[in-house]
Amino acid sequence: MKINVAKFGGFCFGVKRAIDIAQKTVVPDSRVSMLGDIVHNEDVIKDIARSGIKRIKRIGRGAGTTLILSAHGTGNNIIEAAQRSGYKIIDATCPMVKSIHKIAQRMEQEGYTIIIIGDRNHSEVHGIIGQLTKRPIVIERLHDIPVRTLKKVHKAAVVAQSTQNAETVFKIIDEIKSYIPDLQFFNTICKPTRMRQAEIRTMPLENDVMVIIGSRTSANTQRLCQISHALNEKTYCVQSKDELRPEWFRGARSVGVASGASTPDKTIQEAIDYLRSISRLLKK
Ligand code: SF4
Repeated sequence: MKINVAKFGGFCFGVKRAIDIAQKTVVPDSRVSMLGDIVHNEDVIKDIARSGIKRIKRIGRGAGTTLILSAHGTGNNIIEAAQRSGYKIIDATCPMVKSIHKIAQRMEQEGYTIIIIGDRNHSEVHGIIGQLTKRPIVIERLHDIPVRTLKKVHKAAVVAQSTQNAETVFKIIDEIKSYIPDLQFFNTICKPTRMRQAEIRTMPLENDVMVIIGSRTSANTQRLCQISHALNEKTYCVQSKDELRPEWFRGARSVGVASGASTPDKTIQEAIDYLRSISRLLKK
């Protein structure tokens, strides 16, 4: 069984940067907290906890504590509340997410209604909403378009969550442009996401089985799973090698291995090694 590993896999630069920032922030005798998860991956979160960073769900008393903001971005209201509570803030927001914040703020100041194409419950979308003074319109899926609301809007600026499925975003834009006379679209899907999605549109067609490695809480991993599954129903999405089952690969001549932007290299390598051992086992 041939194992074909995706060219673009493992940490993207935004995740690497956030982890680096967190590691450099911990010095002996320092008190460091993190608001939510720095990135959506259980192994990374465990490593961060082991390094002495405490994960908190909400702002508490901050005097003497450094607060690291996650790669997904944080709303201004939360940052201001943290500063008022006395935290020293270290911002690990990915620069690509920061640029979405800037676009959304600028276009709101220019009088545009902001539309976000993204997952309503994802922290990145909450972070974008938290930059604005008016409530934006959030569209999650093609069949979720609030047509009546959109028909009342004269000018709107659309941004996308950085890890959205590009195909879905373009379909949504196509649909909503007929309702809004002045519609400005900013393609804010980040480059690492675009490259991974481009690869995952061919790999499932070239391999008998696909394995996607990453957390179930990782938006970009789940997107890769959806795209791959639509092209090859023998797509298996796992968090680590422990979830791989030998019977999935019986009769397969090739397996494609892809991974999300927050999946550590170690997790990917362990899965590849395990696939090699399965391959040897099936040969006997
Ligand atoms: S997936 Fe894109 S936006 Fe998210 S952290 Fe990585 S580079 Fe930044």
